[in-house]
Amino acid sequence: MSRAYNFSPGPAALPEPVLRQAQADMLEWGDARASIVEISHRGPEFLQVARQAEADLRSLLAVPDDYAVLFPAGGATTQQALIALNFADAGQRVDYVVSGHWGKTALKQVPSVAVNVAASGEADGFRRIPARETWRLSDDAAYVHVTANETIHGVEYRPAWGQVPPDTGRVPLFADFSSSIASEPVDVSKYGLIYAGAQKNLGPVGISVVIVRRDLLERAGQPRADIFDYRSQLANESMLNTPPTWNWYVLGLTVRWMIEEGGTAEFDRRSARKSSLLYAAIDGSGGFYRNEVDPTVRSRMNVPFFLADSALDAAFLDGAREAGLMGLKGHRVLGGMRASIYNAMPVEGVQALVDYMREFQTRHG
Ligand code: PMP
Repeated sequence: MSRAYNFSPGPAALPEPVLRQAQADMLEWGDARASIVEISHRGPEFLQVARQAEADLRSLLAVPDDYAVLFPAGGATTQQALIALNFADAGQRVDYVVSGHWGKTALKQVPSVAVNVAASGEADGFRRIPARETWRLSDDAAYVHVTANETIHGVEYRPAWGQVPPDTGRVPLFADFSSSIASEPVDVSKYGLIYAGAQKNLGPVGISVVIVRRDLLERAGQPRADIFDYRSQLANESMLNTPPTWNWYVLGLTVRWMIEEGGTAEFDRRSARKSSLLYAAIDGSGGFYRNEVDPTVRSRMNVPFFLADSALDAAFLDGAREAGLMGLKGHRVLGGMRASIYNAMPVEGVQALVDYMREFQTRHG
C-alpha cells in the first residue's frame, strides 16, 4: 500500500522529503554517532539544529530583528494560557474577537484576567467574521486576540473581508496562526505576537512557535512560574528545561523544505489554486455538496463541506479511503466533511479529491 493523500487537520501530512530525511537521520545523525533523539539538547549538534531552525524560520517569515522567536514545548492551547500570564499587567483587561471554535478555546485559557469579547461570529454560526467597524475594543487592553484561521469552521481573515490584519490602534494585535502560518507572506510588524502549534504547516505536534515584539517582553504580566515566563525562555533559547528535540528538528526540516519550494509567495499561489479548485467543485455541484461560509472569509487551509444527504456520509468516506484520500471526516462540532489542504498537500491531491467528489456525485446524485 502506498501513502494516501492526507487531508487530516493536524497532526497533518508532512512533506515526503522531510519524512525521508527524518527516517535517514533516525539511526545516526551526521557525525554524532547517535540518533538526533539520543543526544543532549545542550551539545553542539543539537544547538546547531535549533539555531538553524530559528534562522530559517526568520528567513521564511521575514521576521524583523526587533521580534524574538520562541520554540515552546506543547501546543497552541498552552500559548493561549501563557499570553495572558505574560502580557496582561495587574488590573489590565484583554480583548478577544471570536471567529470560531478556537477563538472560544482561547477565551477559556484566561481565567483570572478580565476579558472583553469585542466581537463574536457565534450568532451567525461562525459563517462570517464580524466587520471591523462593529468591534467594541477597549482603549487600554493589554492586547487584542484574533484567530487568523479557524481550523474547524473554515473561516479566515482574507483581503475581501477588509483590511488584514485589522487595525487595533495602539493596542498590540495577537494572532493564533496555528493553521495558516507560512501559507502566504505576512507583515509580522503589524502584529505584537503571532503563535502557532507546529502540527499543521510547520512540522510535528509537540512544539509551538511564538514570534513576539521584544519590547512587549518587558511587561510585568501576572504572577507565574519561571517555566511559563517567555522572557526567561528567551534568555535560555527556549531551553529552560529539556525541549522536544525531535519535534524541533523535524520542524527545522519542514521550514527548510518550504524555503526550497519557493517560500511563502509560492505557497500563497498554491493555496489560491488548491482552495479555488475545491470551492469551485463544491459550489458547482448544484447543491449536492455545500459550504456555507461567507465567500469573503472562506479559509484556504481548511474547507468544511456537507453532503445534502448526510445518509451518504459514510459511503463518501469509505469510497474516499479506497481512492487513496484520507482524513476527510469533519470535526465532531460540525459533522460533515473537512479537507485540510496545508502546504504539504500538493495540487494533485486536491485534484484527486475533486475528481472523486464528481465521480461520487455521478453515482449517487
Ligand atoms: N488554535 C487553532 C487555530 C487550532 O487549529 C488548534 C488545534 N487544531 C489549536 C489552537 C489548539 O492547538 P493544540 O492542540 O496544539 O493545543
